[in-house]
Amino acid sequence: MVSTFLAAAAAAAPAFDVDAATRAYLDMVQGAARERSNGYFEGGYWLLLWGTLLSLAVNWALLHFGWSARWSAWAARRTGRQWLCPALYAVPYILATTLLLLPWSIYTGFLREKAYGLMNLSLGGWLGEQGIGLLLSLILMPLVLMAIFAVIRRAPRSWWMWGTGVAVAFIAFGALVSPVFIAPLFNTYTPMQPGPLREQILAMAHANDIPANDVYVFNASKQTDRISANVSGLGPTVRIALNDNLLGRTTPEEVKAVMGHEMGHYVLGHVVESIASVALIFLLLFVLLWSLTPRLLRRFGGRWKVEGPADPGALPAYAVVASLFMLLMTPVLNSLTRTNEIEADVFGLDAAREPDGFARVAMRLSEYRKLEPGPLEELVFFTHPSGYNRVRRAMEWKARHLAELPPERRAIQRPAPLPPKF
Ligand SMILES: [Zn+2]
Repeated sequence: MVSTFLAAAAAAAPAFDVDAATRAYLDMVQGAARERSNGYFEGGYWLLLWGTLLSLAVNWALLHFGWSARWSAWAARRTGRQWLCPALYAVPYILATTLLLLPWSIYTGFLREKAYGLMNLSLGGWLGEQGIGLLLSLILMPLVLMAIFAVIRRAPRSWWMWGTGVAVAFIAFGALVSPVFIAPLFNTYTPMQPGPLREQILAMAHANDIPANDVYVFNASKQTDRISANVSGLGPTVRIALNDNLLGRTTPEEVKAVMGHEMGHYVLGHVVESIASVALIFLLLFVLLWSLTPRLLRRFGGRWKVEGPADPGALPAYAVVASLFMLLMTPVLNSLTRTNEIEADVFGLDAAREPDGFARVAMRLSEYRKLEPGPLEELVFFTHPSGYNRVRRAMEWKARHLAELPPERRAIQRPAPLPPKF
């Protein structure tokens, strides 16, 4: 009896062609728009390499020309307290590296973004934000370096372990306070206007046991047209936020699809999970710093006038090892992030039940992410699933749940191509 009923239902529901539905979305971005999307993203692969090489060159130069040794000696003269030296050393180090890398930062962070229509700030506005970032580094980096060099001095044989603990503590603290103290330095957060969409977002949050009673909108459009949202904080600091681009440029279906994804990150505990995986990466990094940097110093330390692993003047040598390590770890770091993003996608489809909204948003993200990479390319360079994989997952979800959707929403959507600036 039941099987007859199911058979009848299956016969009544027209088959949903996942391939055709996926292709219909991918066809939204063609020709010049597709080339631009690919060009922007593929250019990023090279930026990763050149950025690392530049950082190596700058740090090597600071050692080679004796600047690092001079700053270390200056710090030692300024204060008799050994524990304070790394903090003083940090100031000229941060200022010099920022200045030496400024042309590169302007090119990658401003000019290139502007050329691809992804930057709304003026150069002055952008430099102002860089200035805030610089001030934050000047406050936080000295603290981090004081703590790390303290463990290097006290535990020469096991500081890789204590150093990891220190680094992870700082990262966890940052994750906790940044939504409340750092993010508002760059953007204004205001409560979302009451209305059906706000109600639907909160209903979705409560259905998933997220203890938030407010939705915030932040003015990202002053920096960029990119759409984004997040559910951040822990316990009493939990907040749901979406940017004004998401609200202004997309349909309510798309907003709900995005919020379902973001709630997935929260419900699935991704913040804590990523701190745990970052801890493992840092453990590996600190073991390398602990074993390789002294070798560098034995080989070149005389010429660099760096006294040993506990001399703050060794910082650029640590930075050289760390830059190379991070470049080599790119596929691992990206895959860790991407795995969580896939989980959030799956969660979001179930929570929002907006497969077409989700597919449409995935296509919009092509303004800065390549849509159809090869499998290896996606594994190495993608922090989020490609547009193709996201649309395909949404359409597979739709095929599985077709009978539950209102009849008018069951057909394959054939959206119009996105305009060049979408
Ligand atoms: Zn995400």
